[in-house]
Amino acid sequence: MKIDCPVCKRKSSLEFTTKTDNIPFFGDIMESVIKCQECGYRHSDIICLERKDPMQYSLVLDKDNLKARVIKSQSTTLSIPELGLKVEPGPQSQGYVSNVEGVLNRFNDAVKTAQNFAESKKIKDNAAKILEEIEKIKIGKNKVTLIVGDPFGHSMIIHKDAIKRELNEDEIKKLKTGFNIIAN
Ligand SMILES: [Zn+2]
Repeated sequence: MKIDCPVCKRKSSLEFTTKTDNIPFFGDIMESVIKCQECGYRHSDIICLERKDPMQYSLVLDKDNLKARVIKSQSTTLSIPELGLKVEPGPQSQGYVSNVEGVLNRFNDAVKTAQNFAESKKIKDNAAKILEEIEKIKIGKNKVTLIVGDPFGHSMIIHKDAIKRELNEDEIKKLKTGFNIIAN
């Protein structure tokens, strides 16, 4: 498979690799990674090899469940409502297998980026407050809820305390899928 890099435009510089994994109680997944040999551009996704129902997982975070595995597909919406944090799927969304701590680090990085680019002091201060709140979660001093919602049911939080439930039709309609849908 020879593809040109969408970032540096060099010819046939992309390497495509896949890795399959079996997740207990979940099934087989395939992680695909596209990587540019020249500029380091990387895009990954998780493909679930079984059809699933629309599902939501939620977990009240504590310092004892930071290692709980999180599977995030391209169509996943991740949120921590108490902090007003939400990542919705878009064309640039990536799927990955991580854990709660890894997800918090990604939120942390996103908030830091927003803080750096913000022009108003109010937004910068608000970002600083959220960063503090994220740190407090890691030492068990902030009990917030991580919610993973996926209309294709490919995502999950693996932990005994995680609450799993099927999404209803209204909730599915409100979730973005990360795919462009052309309305008639
Ligand atoms: Zn490149």
